[in-house]
Amino acid sequence: MRKIEHLGIAVKNLKQSNALFERLLGKASYKEEEVGSEGVLTSFFQVGETKIELLEASSENSPIAKFMERRGEGIHHIAFDVEDIRSEVERLKANGFEILNEIPKEGADHKLVVFLHPRSTNGVLVELCQDKD
Ligand code: ZN
Repeated sequence: MRKIEHLGIAVKNLKQSNALFERLLGKASYKEEEVGSEGVLTSFFQVGETKIELLEASSENSPIAKFMERRGEGIHHIAFDVEDIRSEVERLKANGFEILNEIPKEGADHKLVVFLHPRSTNGVLVELCQDKD
């Protein structure tokens, strides 16, 4: 793993949170994107080498909607940048981590992504992401 690529934050209202994070960070979001397969609307802010990803549920079945019901707004996941996502998945599996999707899927922001189950990572949802060429 090379760096923290981004932190994902679950929010109720992307529009309001965009304005809030714009005030907080002193800059505007550089991108908004809907990821239909995940049922989320996302917005990204660049902060140095790392990003903040705001996530609003776009449907009731969205994992974000379920997270919000249980825990409300707040940090949802931590994403690590990896060079080779498939070999990282093999390495982590061999080390006993529980992989949610072994086949990398299309995430937001031109990434291939894999998630680890929080019960194998001290309650933290971990995302691996690799740039798509
Ligand atoms: Zn993410």
